[in-house]
Amino acid sequence: MKRAVKKEVLTIKPYVPGKPIDEVKRELGLRDVIKLASNENPYGPSPKVLRAVAREARRLNRYPDGDCFYLRSALAKRLGVGGGQLVFGNGSDELIVLAVKALVRKGDEVVIAKPSFLIYDIAARVAGARVRAVPLRDFRYDLDAMAKAVGKKTKIVFLGNPDNPSGKYLTDREVRRFLGKVRRDVLVFIDEAYFEYVQADDYVDSVSLIPSHANVMVTRTFSKMYGLAGLRVGYGIASREFAGILNRIREPFNVNSVAQAAAVAALQDRAYYRDIARKIKGQRQYLYRSLEQLNLDFVDSATNFILVKIPGRASGIVQKLLKKGVIVRGMGFWGMPDYLRVTIGTAQESKRFIQSLKETL
Ligand SMILES: *Cc1c(COP(=O)(O)O)cnc(C)c1O
Repeated sequence: MKRAVKKEVLTIKPYVPGKPIDEVKRELGLRDVIKLASNENPYGPSPKVLRAVAREARRLNRYPDGDCFYLRSALAKRLGVGGGQLVFGNGSDELIVLAVKALVRKGDEVVIAKPSFLIYDIAARVAGARVRAVPLRDFRYDLDAMAKAVGKKTKIVFLGNPDNPSGKYLTDREVRRFLGKVRRDVLVFIDEAYFEYVQADDYVDSVSLIPSHANVMVTRTFSKMYGLAGLRVGYGIASREFAGILNRIREPFNVNSVAQAAAVAALQDRAYYRDIARKIKGQRQYLYRSLEQLNLDFVDSATNFILVKIPGRASGIVQKLLKKGVIVRGMGFWGMPDYLRVTIGTAQESKRFIQSLKETL
């Protein structure tokens, strides 16, 4: 069978996700395991969301609403965009794949940063694209170099804002300047999976750029701050025309009914999530202070995760932490063998991470 598989597919290294808690328990015989490896919300969905999930579960014999009517209406209102400008996905990952499907032919090019979120690279390669990866400078996007990397065959530029694993965001000025340099038939895909965590006055309001830039698409997700990673629901905001195209090529029931109900309920529960964002911010300060006390360098982050530098020893430390029941992510796969990435958890989890780290160092 392998001989029949497309050549470009065979070159792809499989995505390695953060280890699931149960897997670590099974494999290492541990009882108490915490996961700080996939940037999830440690508190879980709100009680209101859980009630919506239970209600919707009674109707699981029915197909979901393929148009996500209630979720679409709620989000359109919240964002001040037309319902026709929205497209929903089985996680925002699916929107990355859909955009590539719509635009990229074999031999076309896609521009990304390096390191950056791995799905951009994987989705582009599956489609047979040549990926031009522009190195970060001091963990930030080098947008001038990325604009220069855009060539005749470039179809998409992916901007993670903030990006993973760097945790850095792009400013309004930077994004506008970049858009001014890029051809209007190149999709500028702005991935805002961590949008809800950013608190910075100069963070770009990407959605407001869409009316004047039909080549901008913005994605967000319910997986990160909203704590619904297990349900898989994300959304894209684009021009009505491009959203319509993506809606044409997606699978008709790509967002399940429970996910839709949970997302609607989550949007209504603003106080619950505001509180979580505040707690995460508090824990970020605690982790910064604790890392400083351990004399470790880290990358200042706008998100709910932090890159920690442990020269020469990061991957060994990741393994040792695992044995202590603390799952974090080694960054070797991203080409940063000296770093690990830790997700900001609850106060208790942060403490346990720091304590375990201290013991392993
Ligand atoms: C987690 C993440 C996503 C997507 O998550 P979904 O669960 O598919 O919505 C997208 N982009 C970045 C940068 C992420 O870290």
